[in-house]
Amino acid sequence: MGEHEWTVLLPAEIHPAGPESIADIATTVSRGEYETRANLLADADRFDAVITRTEPIDGEFIAAASDLEIISKHGVGYDNIDVDTATENGVLVTNTPGVNSRAVAEHAITLLLAVRRRLRPADGAVRSGTGERYDAVTDQFRNDTVGLYGYGDIGSEVASVVSGLGMDCLVYDPYVDESDLAAQVTKIDSVAGLFDRADAVSVHAPLTPETRAAISEAELRRLAPSGILINTARAEIVDLNALVSSLEAGELSGAGIDVFAEGPPSREHPLFEYENVVLTPHIGAQTTESLTAMSRRSANNVRSVYDGTMPETTLNSEELPSALS
Ligand code: NAD
Repeated sequence: MGEHEWTVLLPAEIHPAGPESIADIATTVSRGEYETRANLLADADRFDAVITRTEPIDGEFIAAASDLEIISKHGVGYDNIDVDTATENGVLVTNTPGVNSRAVAEHAITLLLAVRRRLRPADGAVRSGTGERYDAVTDQFRNDTVGLYGYGDIGSEVASVVSGLGMDCLVYDPYVDESDLAAQVTKIDSVAGLFDRADAVSVHAPLTPETRAAISEAELRRLAPSGILINTARAEIVDLNALVSSLEAGELSGAGIDVFAEGPPSREHPLFEYENVVLTPHIGAQTTESLTAMSRRSANNVRSVYDGTMPETTLNSEELPSALS
């Protein structure tokens, strides 16, 4: 049990539900209160906890924050956190799996349907006054076979919805047992096989050394020219240059992308050239329901550690078995 009121750093604003729920034990401090990173580092030892969205929590900060007890990820993918340094410093790292999976799954499917039915060019025709002469014909998404690269919380939610829409669903996920797949889903043993058989591939794996740039020219070439790539996971999993080359060569019909390595690209980015590419600024999890739940859950993980309990979703619990004892 914490003996003093905790100070929790919020590198970015989160839904107030979480901070309000721990107001009895903690004060939250916004990153905006520090003009420079140097100012933040100089004051880092006042923080007992951090609740971070996608903002990097690097080794330098962790080392400077000598009283830090928990880095609470507001969300699932924790590639923005230096977990090794946190572990070396006895700091717990937690996340909030599952609570945003419906939101991200809906977004991936929305992108897929928008690209398949070519909504961007159709919308552009209406806005530019050429709608009367617009005669593009699309295929029905009903006939698509959707390939999922990753079948965790989000991938399995996508599978359930697309199956309900009448689409076939294939899955490549080397870490999932055939017995854990829903009945309507078929497991594929290789990435190449997934891209060979799917009409549209949607990426739902975490960024790891193994998945980094795992989807490149060779994989994209296996999709038919009517193929679609959707990425709502992490930008670095897909080789963007290869994606642009495939679009340029007409080897792909379109793409839907929610994640960019360095934030939303500028207008000069080559992806802007292709009319059937839908780009969104990392909004997959940005629904009211999911933001509220992630805020509450990440704050609750802070409360657990304050109370001396290891949260169930601790990512380095094996390395830090006695951190709270
Ligand atoms: P999860 O951990 O439940 O599922 C990830 C799945 O990927 C697991 O089943 C795992 O076995 C699988 N996997 C791991 N390595 C793989 C590989 N080499 N090939 C294929 N599959 C592999 O996570 P989740 O909640 O489904 O989230 C998936 C990812 O989505 C997160 O890691 C995060 O990066 C991203 N995400 C994006 C947003 C957004 O706003 N766009 C929001 C939440 C999560």
